[in-house]
This record gives sequence, structure tokens and C-alpha cells, in this order.
Amino acid sequence: MEKQTKKRIDDLIDQINNHNYAYYVLDDPQLTDSEYDHLFRELEILEKKNPSLVLPTSPTQRVGHAVSSDLQSYNHEVPMLSLSNAINKNEIEEFYKRILKWFKNKNIDFVAEPKIDGLGVSLIYKNGILEKALTRGDGFKGEDITHNVKTMPSVPLMLRDTRNEIPSFIEVRGEIYMSISDFEKLNNRRKNADEKLFANARNAAAGSVRQLDPKITASRNLSIFCYEIGGSDKINFDNQIDMLSYLKSVGLPVNPLSKKVKNGQDMIAYHRTLENNRLRINYEIDGSVIKVNNYKLRERLGLRARSPRWAIAAKFKAKQTESQLLAIELQVGRTGVITPVAKIKEVDLSGVMISSATLHNQDEIDRKDIRINDFVLIERSGDVIPKITKVLKEKRPKNAKKFSISDYIWPDPNCKVERIKDQAAFRCLNPNCKLRVTAMLEHFCSKNAMNIEGMGPKIVEQLLNENLISSVDDIFRLQYEDLVVLERFKDKSAINLINSINNAKQTTFPRFVFGLGIPNVGQHISKVIDRYCNSSIDNLRQLKVEEMEEIDGIGSTVADAIENYFKDKENDKIVNKCLQNGVNIIPTLFNKSNQKMLNKRIVITGSFETLSRSDLKLRLENNGATVTSTISSKTSALIVGQKPGSKLSKAKKFNIPIIYEQELQNFLDKN
Ligand SMILES: [Zn+2]
Repeated sequence: MEKQTKKRIDDLIDQINNHNYAYYVLDDPQLTDSEYDHLFRELEILEKKNPSLVLPTSPTQRVGHAVSSDLQSYNHEVPMLSLSNAINKNEIEEFYKRILKWFKNKNIDFVAEPKIDGLGVSLIYKNGILEKALTRGDGFKGEDITHNVKTMPSVPLMLRDTRNEIPSFIEVRGEIYMSISDFEKLNNRRKNADEKLFANARNAAAGSVRQLDPKITASRNLSIFCYEIGGSDKINFDNQIDMLSYLKSVGLPVNPLSKKVKNGQDMIAYHRTLENNRLRINYEIDGSVIKVNNYKLRERLGLRARSPRWAIAAKFKAKQTESQLLAIELQVGRTGVITPVAKIKEVDLSGVMISSATLHNQDEIDRKDIRINDFVLIERSGDVIPKITKVLKEKRPKNAKKFSISDYIWPDPNCKVERIKDQAAFRCLNPNCKLRVTAMLEHFCSKNAMNIEGMGPKIVEQLLNENLISSVDDIFRLQYEDLVVLERFKDKSAINLINSINNAKQTTFPRFVFGLGIPNVGQHISKVIDRYCNSSIDNLRQLKVEEMEEIDGIGSTVADAIENYFKDKENDKIVNKCLQNGVNIIPTLFNKSNQKMLNKRIVITGSFETLSRSDLKLRLENNGATVTSTISSKTSALIVGQKPGSKLSKAKKFNIPIIYEQELQNFLDKN
């Protein structure tokens, strides 16, 4: 009896999975909705009667329990890089020509596909079973959304093993989205329930996928297209087309509009056709993605700092609307750089209310001849800040006024502005400029820097006005007694802020260094330096420009900025005071199990048969090594692939150990 029930359950699961496959992957449903519901209900009843026969991968198990706390973050094993953008047809053509030149005009295949305006996701399958789903996050670290992704019927809980080709591990990348019709239905429901509406389908999808309770996600009808394999065990493809057909064969939906293209003209034609038809497609797309088809060629092209050379995202023209420029305000950033901001008459731009737009700099204001009170065209693409694209000169009113940053009357008479050498930007020269100090302090306290909870812009401004803080180190001397007497503070909020300041004292090197606000030193660079300095501020202080420039990913601009920062006695003092006032930098453990290559400096030259240069670099870095771009007497080893450059002879001159590809595996295992 039990055997028969088990067989029926297996049979029902197969039928349901086959239906989902036909529906979501092949777009060719074989069952009607009510037939499907019947099967599902029969399965539910059988499982309820025989709880011991319920499989974790059964379609009835998609909606699980709510997660209790915040979503957990995990590192991506292979970073999810972003693509560089092409904003017009010339840039698409340039991309094509660049690749062609690289390969000396050989015939090269490309694949073009729609760029879905959704949410990047990484799906990890172990032995064919969905184990984890992470958001793209910042590309290096994402949030665990497994409980929600499991509710999506288009995501198989178990891969289809029709050709006996399921690897023990595979990480698939895709884009989660909400179809436009589902988005409209959802907003209608919310309107009737008097709930806040989502601005667009992308926001609705993002809000749905990050829920703690999977029941909510399950009710939202999310969809997915998969487009890439991030990593896998013992499965290789020659090209993107083969890889996509593999994804499809194992049950993962891929976009049916993907197409092979041959040259620049094809790419532009594909992009145009997509743009002309975008309103007829039932999901939001904001451009096309063009990739080199062949994987070997991709490896030879390799990566730039944060994006691969073998792909480009071509953007559609953004949506536009008209409004009036009411005023120009000046913002002062943490490095003193001044950004003009246009205040415009509030206007609805593709579902979002807009009241300000970026103006970049004085040159842009002059070039476009933008005057206060002008009627202007506002444009917005994706989530970026809207900008003014054009002045409607035929509508220029009589009271239109020219604007110049140099003539601006600042509230603080000590503020003086000067154009930065060789740049379009102006900077405030007043070392005590309140706007600048405010921006610096806000940045230091912000989430990605020191993450001092409760210390938002308003509180920073208040403490500054009360003369309680004037530089970042002052924050760590604040006392309960200072705060509790202030307006807006109560006993509890004063205690809370002191607590979160104390919590923030235990910090990491990247947070602290990023928080200092050294020009051009962002989160990514801070992490790179962290590894190189072994999380020591003293090491950072002593770094010479030449040494820094050797680190892969750091250029002379960053190196100069860091040196200049510490040359300034005032900055040096602030850093010391922070440390004296209790800031404690917890050393980063790069890889607990294997740090054997710590302090080793490795240079790579040539290309490799068995793995890509970027993978090799990652493996070395995971073992604690620093990958540098030039040979010096301090280099620990040179790894040599095919067609090595001049580095090989230089390494021989310095007597530096040389590792050839056949010895590479041994070298990596040993170290
Ligand atoms: Zn100023």
C-alpha cells in the first residue's frame, strides 16, 4: 500500500514539474489551470495522510516558514560583476571594434539579449537541488533570499536530469522580475486596500524578494530569466549559446529573445528593434546586453577593475518630461567639491515624483545655457538621479537669470571657492566650511562606513551646531550628559546613541578607512588596501606611492590621495585620536583555513588553458596573496602562461621564482 502511494506521489510530482517546465521554460503549457490544480490538490492530500513520504523538493513545500531576523549576508564565491554601459550607437560600435581589434579582425560571434530591469540573483544547486539563493548585493556579498525564491514556480527546486549532466555544484545567475500585468494587478489590489503603491515593477519585485515571510512573496507572482553560470563543478561549455540551451534543458527559464549577432550593425539593429518593441513586451527592459559568445575568447579578454571586457550593456534612451527650473542650490561634499542641484517644479516622471535634478558642474550649466526659471526637459534612467537634458529656449521667460558658482553668496563669509586644477568642479577652500564638515561627518557615520546607528544627517547637524563635534574623533568622546540636555533627545535616545557609538568602535579596516573620506578611496579600494596592509593603519601610513601603485586595482590617483591625506598633520591627528578614543580595528580574516600565501606578492603573465586569469587571481587572493601588476625585487613569484610578456625576462633578471602552467596546480595546492 505504502509503495503504491509513494509511486503515486512521485508520479504527481513528475506531472507537476513537467507542467511547470512546459509552462515556464518552453512557454507551451500542456495542462489547463484546473487540471493542474487537481493534481496539486491530490498531492497535498496524499502527503497530508502520509507525512513520512513528503520530500523536501515536493512542489507543496515551496512556501516555508518566515525567517525570524534580518536577511543573512553571504559572500559570492565568484563576484557578480556589473557590465560597463554603452549609451548610444557609437559606443556599441566602439565595443565591437575594440573586440575585433583585440583578435586581429577574426570572425567573432556575439550574443545579444534583452536587459531585464529586475533584480540580479545567484542560484546555487548542489547535486541538482536548490540549496541557496542570494541577491546580487554589491556584487561581492548578497542577501540570503532562498526562502522566497523557493516560492517561485519558475525556479525548479530540483534540476531536470534528462541527459545525466547534473554537476555536484552549479551556480546560476539570473534576473528576477515582475511582469507588467502582474505589477498592475498588484498595485490595483493595494489601491483597493488603501496601501502604498509601488513606483514601478522593479521596486515591486525588489520589495517582494526581500520579504521575511515567504507567504507574501508567494502571492506576488515573480518570474526569472537565467543567463549565465557563475561557477560549476566539472561542466564546461564552449560558448554562451550552448550554455543557454543547457540551462533550458535542466529546467531553468532563459530569455527567448536571445540572439546570435555577427557585427556592429547587427548589434545596433537588435538594440533598435528591442527598443521599438519594448512596450509590447510584458516585462520592463532597459536595454540590451551584448556578449562575446565564445568562452575561450572571453577568458583572453579578461576583466577590467569591476567589469568584464567581453560584454556591454547598451541602454535605451531614458524617459523624459518637461518642468520648470525654480532655483539652483549648491551642495558641498565631504572633500569640499561643490555640486549644483536644480530645484524644479514637482513633476511625475514615469511614476516617480521628481523635484530636483543633478546639474554636474558649472561647465554643464554654461554649455546647456541653463538659467533659473527656464523650462527644461528632465530625463531619468533606471534608479539614477534625474538630470536636465535640454533647455526649451523657445519658452524662455523674461525673468530667466544666469547662474554662476563664483557669484554665489554663501551663508558663511569665510567660504571661498576655486576651480580644481584640470577639472570642471569647484571646491570650497574654507577648512572649517560647515557644509563640508557636515558632509564628512555624515559620511563617517553612514551605514557602509562606521555604521553608527541613529547618527543620521539631522543629528550630525544638531551636534555640530551645539559645538559638540567638529571632527570625526569628537564622536567617540560624546557622553550621555552631553546629549540628554539637547532638544529632540530623551533619556532613552541619548542612551541608545551612546550605545551605538560604543558598538561602532569595534570596527574593520575597510569601514574605518572608507569613513575617513579620502578622495577616490571607496569601499572597494578600502578592501583591496585592507588585504595589503594586514588591517593595520600604521602599515597604511607608511605605504609609499610607488608601492601602492603596484597593487592591482590601485592607480596613481588613489595612491597620491592616500599619501596626501596622511601628509596633512591635521588628518594624522584625527586618525590617532580616533584610535586613542577607543576605535579598535578588528583584523580581517581573509580565509581562516588557508592563509599560507599571506604577504606573498604574485605577478601573473600570459593566458592559461586550465583557468581564466581572473579565477587564478581570485584563488591566489583567497589564499592571502597580493596580486601585483609589475615585477620588483619584492615579488615572491611570477606565474607564467602562454604568450608571456616582458615580465618573464624581468623576473629572470631579478632571480624571481617562476611557476609555469604545468606546475600551477601543484603550486596552488601546496600554498
Ligand atoms: Zn564652504
